[in-house]
Amino acid sequence: MAILDIDERLIDLMEQVEFDRSPLTDKKRFTQRCDIGIIEGGCCNEENVEVLQDFRRNCDVLVAIGQCAIMGGLPAMRNAIMHSDDPLRECLEEAYISGRYLRNATHNVPNDPALPLILDNVYSCAEVVEIDHQIPGCAPEGDFIYNTLTKLLAGKFRGFERETIRFD
Ligand code: SF4
Repeated sequence: MAILDIDERLIDLMEQVEFDRSPLTDKKRFTQRCDIGIIEGGCCNEENVEVLQDFRRNCDVLVAIGQCAIMGGLPAMRNAIMHSDDPLRECLEEAYISGRYLRNATHNVPNDPALPLILDNVYSCAEVVEIDHQIPGCAPEGDFIYNTLTKLLAGKFRGFERETIRFD
């Protein structure tokens, strides 16, 4: 969604690209090899891993966008449960059963077979596949995304200048 912060420049960008697998087109499978793939979010479950691996297989350049994709972000807070014999179980019980503000009359953790298998930890994209570029921020600024993507499309992106990725 941060890409929408590009505002009207999105129209320029759309004229330079053709979308394949994308939430904008709602295509669920790649239909051709792509020059650039953009992925957001880390890997919390097996479906996230499959999608990420599919992007890696089908894209020449893979870009992770946002802190969740780069280092797990907020979902990775569950990785901090370390002093437990079963951290994932503890996390799910806190989320669905014992959490202070919960109303869960069934006292069950959802376990429908259609739900993707949850991983033991939340992983960054780079821990699962090779990532070519990372666009930092939560959410990344529209200008930052636009400048990076236009340079990538022109084959002129050589990484970020140090001063552009300072957030202090
Ligand atoms: S905006 Fe922040 S929290 Fe949301 S997906 Fe992007 S990096 Fe993660």
